[in-house]
Amino acid sequence: MNRLSAFPHTNISTSWSLHAPNGKSVELHFVNPGYVSKRIDFDKFLLDLVKEKAEIDVLSNFKVESITERAELKVLKNDRYEELSARLLIACDGAHSIVAKKLSYFKVDLKNYSGAVRAYYKNVAGVQNSQCLEIHLLKDFLPGYFWIFPLNDNTCNVGFGMLSDDIRKRRIDLKLSLKDIIRNSPSLASRFRHAEAISPLEGFGLPLGGIERSISGEGYMLCGDAASLIDPLNGEGIGNAMWSGYLAARQAERCFNQNNFSGIFMSAYDKSVYSKLGKELKLKLCMQKAFNRTWLINMLVNLAIAFPGLKNWFGKRL
Ligand SMILES: Cc1cc2nc3c(=O)[nH]c(=O)nc-3n(C[C@H](O)[C@H](O)[C@H](O)COP(=O)(O)OP(=O)(O)OC[C@H]3O[C@@H](n4cnc5c(N)ncnc54)[C@H](O)[C@@H]3O)c2cc1C
Repeated sequence: MNRLSAFPHTNISTSWSLHAPNGKSVELHFVNPGYVSKRIDFDKFLLDLVKEKAEIDVLSNFKVESITERAELKVLKNDRYEELSARLLIACDGAHSIVAKKLSYFKVDLKNYSGAVRAYYKNVAGVQNSQCLEIHLLKDFLPGYFWIFPLNDNTCNVGFGMLSDDIRKRRIDLKLSLKDIIRNSPSLASRFRHAEAISPLEGFGLPLGGIERSISGEGYMLCGDAASLIDPLNGEGIGNAMWSGYLAARQAERCFNQNNFSGIFMSAYDKSVYSKLGKELKLKLCMQKAFNRTWLINMLVNLAIAFPGLKNWFGKRL
């Protein structure tokens, strides 16, 4: 954590401001500070940490195209027919994990999946030196939300996400909707009048947690988005991805110590992930389903403004 505090491309954040459809808002303070950086900077920061470890070989430019099994090994091939083989595969290959698809019969579950678009903007009004992450819950797009996360150089991470099942049923185009919100939302349009996008608007999928799935098997474990561990309420997945990576490393140590890579032995990894993250993910899934209702959000924000105890409870859970 000390290294992250010293990382120059990050803005410390200390609170959420939650904007209800009725126009009222409440600021919820974090228990511990958060960090906001551009993905490209954060990923480089992590990769540089890994490269400091002499015992780790980093192999770039190897896109896994196929996975097969040979004797007890998992064999990964790229499109140049180069191959890597391993007794144990820890897959951190994201929302479209080829490992999850090939080895664990993974299927996209639209009711527990979100879509989101994001771009970086400069000159958004009202965010200078802000340490507050803004969440705007808009009546027409619940239970999704529009966000503005200030960075440290007068730029912001601006995005919009919704449940994929709702996107499909209501035929929502996320990119058009984000542009529409920025141009026409009564509470936001004036703040974007002089703002300028400094990156393309990009879309991604978010496999949400809250339902226990099988995330390991003979000779493999899935981590992070590959294991569908994203918080189903706020869409955050980096913390849970890191926890699962840590727990997978501990399981890997046990596997090599006992020379046991069987599916049954590996399921201790599932247990450790769900005992660490499962309760919180389930609670967030229930909150996400409740937050589908405009009147309820308006009421909760009104109550949070009136009762600091409730405000603190939300602050700890969002
Ligand atoms: C728009 C948006 C905003 C978000 N904002 C936040 C936020 O503010 N805070 C937060 O905590 N989370 C946020 N998330 C979620 C977060 O990005 C993910 O939960 C997190 O990145 C998961 O980490 P991961 O390592 O599992 O997967 P990823 O970060 O997706 O990493 C997967 C890696 O695997 C590589 N890979 C994929 N396929 C292959 C292959 N076939 N061969 C080789 N390599 C492969 C990819 O190149 C990538 O480097 C957001 C997500 C989206 C879509």
